[in-house]
Amino acid sequence: MRAVDDVSWKLEKGESLGLAGESGCGKTTTALSIIRLLPKNGRIIDGHIRYSGKDLATIKESELRRIRWKHIAIVFQGAMNALNPVKRISWQIAEAIALHDNMSFDEAQGRVVELLELVGINPSRKDEYPHEFSGGMRQRVMIAMALACRPKIIIADEPVTALDVMIQAQILELLTKLQKELDLSMILISHDLSVIAQTCNNVAIMYGGKIAEYGPAEEVFLDPQHPYTQGLLRSFPDIYGPRDLPPWIPGQPPNLLAPPDGCRFHERCPLAFAECLVREPPLYETRPGHLASCHLRAPST
Ligand code: SF4
Repeated sequence: MRAVDDVSWKLEKGESLGLAGESGCGKTTTALSIIRLLPKNGRIIDGHIRYSGKDLATIKESELRRIRWKHIAIVFQGAMNALNPVKRISWQIAEAIALHDNMSFDEAQGRVVELLELVGINPSRKDEYPHEFSGGMRQRVMIAMALACRPKIIIADEPVTALDVMIQAQILELLTKLQKELDLSMILISHDLSVIAQTCNNVAIMYGGKIAEYGPAEEVFLDPQHPYTQGLLRSFPDIYGPRDLPPWIPGQPPNLLAPPDGCRFHERCPLAFAECLVREPPLYETRPGHLASCHLRAPST
């Protein structure tokens, strides 16, 4: 099964890219492939992941280990599961520094304090355990760990899922602030389009393991070109609109063990026509830098 197929995009220095789509559309698999942290039954069978003159898809594991955390770090979803419950947070952050920056735990303590201040945690709490922190504070600890080795790229996988709306806003604000201050590039994975709209310059909407639409976030959200993106945006409640349930996209995402012929969205698309059932649409450029994989966007001849 190909969980992700024919996905291609660029991430410039200081830029943020949002990967969006329903559960199982391939966004986390795409992001984990970048640093080859796929589950045991997953592998990259073709393609390139170019970073700083190297192809991360093919370099040796030992070389990749030097890139993980020091160049590309991850903020995992579910901070309580990702943090070790029996270790103090100072130990956990210092471990990341000691492992990747060749420092002793004692030498790393100064940097731990710096990092806690950077993410808005009072350093006096450094010797507390994860369960002593709220969900939002634990997510701040995860961000501090990700920044431990001064990476160039941060991958944030659903960083605010399971947090309440006020805390979500604080964490997104923190990520945006750090991204600007530290000139980081960021890949933000979320099923929530409003999270991406608040945070990212560009967005890739994924469907069935492929990119359905890609472009500047503002343009994609204000003028979506793919029927799937249009459906996703319509299914958001409008606080000024009628008090009805918003329309949803009927049907289920395709089974990637046996994806349908033609356009992967055709079984759910209200605009599907005969060609959609037999021919897969390429990504058409509808405006400079704005692409949509839909036959309706083919240039007229
Ligand atoms: Fe719908 Fe056809 Fe476009 Fe696919 S190619 S999104 S089925 S109109």
